Amino acid sequence: MIEYIAMNKKFIFITGGVLSSLGKGIASASIAFLLEAKGLKVALMKLDPYLNVDPGTMNPFQHGEVYVTDDGAETDLDLGHYYRFSNSPLSKASNATSGQIYYEVLRRERRGDYLGKTVQVIPHITDEIRRRLIECSKQVDGIDVTIVEIGGTVGDIESGPFLEAIRQFRHEYAKDCINIHLTYVPYIEHAGEVKTKPTQHSVQKLQQSGIFPDMILCRCKDPLDEENKSKISLFCNVPLHGVIDLIDAKHSIYEVPLLLQKAGLETAISKLLGLHENRADLGVWEEMIQTLIHAKQTVTIAVVGKYLQHQDAYKSVFEALKHGGIANSAKVEIRCIESDKIEDENDLKEKLQGCSGILVPGGFGGRGWSGKILAAKFAREQNIPYFGICLGMQIMCVEFARNVLHLPNAHSTEVDLETPDNVISLLSEQVHTTDLGGSMRLGAYPCSLEKNSIAYQCYKQEEISERHRHRYEFNNQYKERCEKFGLKITGSWKEKNLCEIMENINHPWMVGVQFHPEFKSKPLAPHPLFKGFIEKAIEYANRRA
Ligand code: GLN
Repeated sequence: MIEYIAMNKKFIFITGGVLSSLGKGIASASIAFLLEAKGLKVALMKLDPYLNVDPGTMNPFQHGEVYVTDDGAETDLDLGHYYRFSNSPLSKASNATSGQIYYEVLRRERRGDYLGKTVQVIPHITDEIRRRLIECSKQVDGIDVTIVEIGGTVGDIESGPFLEAIRQFRHEYAKDCINIHLTYVPYIEHAGEVKTKPTQHSVQKLQQSGIFPDMILCRCKDPLDEENKSKISLFCNVPLHGVIDLIDAKHSIYEVPLLLQKAGLETAISKLLGLHENRADLGVWEEMIQTLIHAKQTVTIAVVGKYLQHQDAYKSVFEALKHGGIANSAKVEIRCIESDKIEDENDLKEKLQGCSGILVPGGFGGRGWSGKILAAKFAREQNIPYFGICLGMQIMCVEFARNVLHLPNAHSTEVDLETPDNVISLLSEQVHTTDLGGSMRLGAYPCSLEKNSIAYQCYKQEEISERHRHRYEFNNQYKERCEKFGLKITGSWKEKNLCEIMENINHPWMVGVQFHPEFKSKPLAPHPLFKGFIEKAIEYANRRA
């Protein structure tokens, strides 16, 4: 069943206790960053306890953003953090849900692979989890360390099989594995002190699963004093140097690797796993943070979407905007505008006061369409930089068709099947699709750029590759009419004649893209389109001032 591996690989398992939202994803990504900075090759993996096969079918309010990999996996948003902090390979092998694991085991059961046996959580489910750990660590050659983040909080019923699989894995490869447990050490205002009890209890809970942490990462407001660290060390059975405080970052999540290095995490991991102890040089990263903190200028960008109450629903878009800011030595302030709360043009105008750019991100379904159409119209008429991503591009095309081509009922067939002008229509490959899970046009596809375009000016190359997640496309029957009036296709997937980028050539910067550039932006490598968009927004702000 489980293939024997000669373990010249190391594994770090990251569990979480006390409560959720402690930043386990960012901590995992930061650890990867620190290890990479020491010259190691790292893979990252997220195990999600829920039963959906992937988050693709969940409402963003439930789950936040769905992050898409090159090979078309719809994954947990933590993979976005992994991408932004590290160079870890990200693929289908990097994220597994309980649903996926059970699906696979049940598929094998139906095929008769276990004929004669009773199929059980242990060993069949746990074996499948362990198989995937190994698969992740081998997805490319030469991976030294695989960091595995276990979603949820210890004690949750759902995460039981994951913890058991890890226990077994550690039993087998004891000297190559460590467990880092992230907990919360609250400061209790009225008592005037921090409390370590929740940490102690969550470690006890973890120990009940047979896992004994090697390090405790304590999320706290201020640095922990020696007394509290010693207490945690004593009661959680972890050496003192393994108790690391993770204080709230002051300015940006990108400070976390620096905070962790300062708190001794890198040294502690190196000791435990027998890695060389040369301290990683974080100079370039530090410079980037300084640029972020001491930005010369602030520019406000309106994001007009409909899942904005969930702070993680557009995580990668928000981060990519910040990266665009870094590239222009500016701080990007994001103004969230709920599209279904936009009453009319005047209301929108008020909501946009002080904004120097409008971004309409991806989305699904009809709610909030009219507000987004108004936003695209306003941007077009007022020459405000506009960036449309996926649905945001489709909105830009429909608005143009309605108000410039005078096709008042133009629409996307996603919202109006009866529209006489289906400027956006179902991709032909989707016509016979019945299952909704994992069936969109997903992952990386090539795109060829027109040389005479904003896109080309940004990318500075003709052939690009970007990631997708959509079912609808621009209907080429409208291409000629659109182009005649200034809405031009400047990027396309030649093989299928599929429109990938639209630009309004009568506007200083109105660009719509069918793909999701936000998934491929890093603080040290800002995405060219975000860089270009923020540059134009700054110009707009300066002209207005
Ligand atoms: N709902 C649109 C489509 O499926 C846009 C998708 C998106 O924005 N990710 O084509």
